Amino acid sequence: MSKIRVTVWSEGLDPKLEPKAVACYPDDINACIGGFLSRHDDLQVTLHTLSEPENGLSQEILDNTDVLIWWSHLYNDQLSDEASNRVVEAVLNGMGLMLLHSSMGCKPARAMLGRNSNGGKYREIGERERVWVVNRSHPIMEGLEKEYIDVPQSEMYGEPYGMATPDDILFISWFEGGEVLRSGVTWHKGAGKIFFFTSGHEEFPTYHLPEIQKVITNGTRWLKPTHTPGLSFRGNLDKVTPLSPINLEGK
Ligand code: ZN
Repeated sequence: MSKIRVTVWSEGLDPKLEPKAVACYPDDINACIGGFLSRHDDLQVTLHTLSEPENGLSQEILDNTDVLIWWSHLYNDQLSDEASNRVVEAVLNGMGLMLLHSSMGCKPARAMLGRNSNGGKYREIGERERVWVVNRSHPIMEGLEKEYIDVPQSEMYGEPYGMATPDDILFISWFEGGEVLRSGVTWHKGAGKIFFFTSGHEEFPTYHLPEIQKVITNGTRWLKPTHTPGLSFRGNLDKVTPLSPINLEGK
């Protein structure tokens, strides 16, 4: 069986502006996520970042990506419109997209899901987050041993979050301050799938938690394209094949 080609992309962390984040993820967040995904034989992982030529999202890179995992927070406006358009096009053609943490503010997400760019309700005091499983039958829940995941310290994002109504809600988070959030949701867009999963503030070691790693690993597998590449549904639209008349009387 061919491996799932996974590109883990992140915007990069600035050691001067984000020393706490760099302390949690000295090699950047994409390396942490790529590291635990690489332990699985069915996943072939490549890392890319915003500062690379073409923002690390060239057509060649996207053409060789089955699932794109995206982490961004502060530098969404630095992504070129061309790179954003390429990502949107790739998703519509079947590439899976995982949007982590604050990534709902990135250009391709805003283009596809209508999220406004000025953020929503949030608080950053390191409060506890409990990520409740809502849809127990979803493949992303495979191997989760409890009905929730406890994240000891988190950044709160709360409802109303201003995202497009999802096709499915997999997780709802409760925060110590009382707010809640649809923290794991999915959409189908064209031939592609999107999974948005919010737990993963850069200043806490959330991506080191085994249960969070399990969700991201399962999510990667679920996002694998299911369409046949190159399959066209257009056909010849010039002619209509006449249908036999329906005989309602059984004669
Ligand atoms: Zn954050």
